[in-house]
Amino acid sequence: MPRPIYLDNNATTPVDKRVLEAMMPFFVEDFGNPSSRTHAYGWAADEAIARAREQVAALISGEPERVVFTSGATEAINLAIKGIARAQSRKGRHVIVTQTEHRAVLDVCRSLERDGFEVTYLPVDQAGIIDVYLLQETIRDDTILVGVIWANNETGVIQPIDEIAEIVRAKRCLLLSDSTQAVGKIPVSASQADLLTISAHKFYGPKGVGALYLGGGRPIIRLTSQIDGGGQEGGLRGGTLNTPGIVGLGMAADIALHEMEAEGLRIAQLRDRLESTITERLEGTRVNGAGSPRLPHTTSIRFPGVSAGKLIPQLHELAVSAGSACSSGSGRPSHVLKALGLTDEEAGASIRMGLGRFTTEAEIDTALDAIVNKVETQWTLSPS
Ligand code: PLP
Repeated sequence: MPRPIYLDNNATTPVDKRVLEAMMPFFVEDFGNPSSRTHAYGWAADEAIARAREQVAALISGEPERVVFTSGATEAINLAIKGIARAQSRKGRHVIVTQTEHRAVLDVCRSLERDGFEVTYLPVDQAGIIDVYLLQETIRDDTILVGVIWANNETGVIQPIDEIAEIVRAKRCLLLSDSTQAVGKIPVSASQADLLTISAHKFYGPKGVGALYLGGGRPIIRLTSQIDGGGQEGGLRGGTLNTPGIVGLGMAADIALHEMEAEGLRIAQLRDRLESTITERLEGTRVNGAGSPRLPHTTSIRFPGVSAGKLIPQLHELAVSAGSACSSGSGRPSHVLKALGLTDEEAGASIRMGLGRFTTEAEIDTALDAIVNKVETQWTLSPS
């Protein structure tokens, strides 16, 4: 049986062959520890890390020395939120995040609550956007951090980050933006937030490597390391650096920097055709978050009266998901879609599709045929 067409690029992307090629020498030949200062093996690895640091910084118009390499975005988020909470708890113990954050952020917030911090979860409107005036009113003297996801992993909805940053900075607070889905897909500039998260496997790099970008125009951000030992990454993240992974992240960033614009246009056209054909041919279907600025490659479509949990296994020629990969085993309705005002049934009738660099027109044609045929023949839509 041929492998299904991959339309789950928000969960993860395949490694680009150019990225793999760049990584290969660092497994066998240039395998040195970048912290080894006394021989050529260490120097070669150290040089490769320095280059990757520059490539990552260039993608977000940032400064290389402000890139802290981690094992991915989840670790970057832990370092940012717990690190700031621990370093700045004398200033305050209040944190604000949106209700549509990824679980990586929400679970860290729950952990903070167990440690006595107070967390406010800001609502979003039907289009998935936060109310900036409400944010302004919610920031208090003891608020130490605001977290706003740059672009949502389920709906692709992009928050008005510049407006948000202006408000947060005027209140002398720090803004963390979980930019994991945005970096490499749309322009993200380091100066737009105080802390940004990056994950290589979301833009054709390897899994298990990412970064926290610290700084956005601030001289220094005080935060406490969450992994001690060895003093790597300026003492913020101990442990021998994953040289091949970091080289892969750097190469993925370099490719994204040069190809993102054309790639985004091509993918958005495919995504738009997918959405318009489904919504025209299947009465009552709706795009979640429609009307908001969205990532070019992401769509979340609601099929009224359909159970996504039952439809997806019937679409055996496609690899799609009901929501985020991290929650796909939970069976619970998506907290992101519920925050947009969907009922449990509506959230459970939604399918997320993530297109990518390697998605072709022919694949979208096949996906459209499969979805339209299956829904028409097996389901009775109940448009409201
Ligand atoms: N934040 C967002 C918005 C994501 O989509 C993901 C990945 O699913 C993460 C954080 C976690 O990233 P990682 O897999 O690198 O830990």
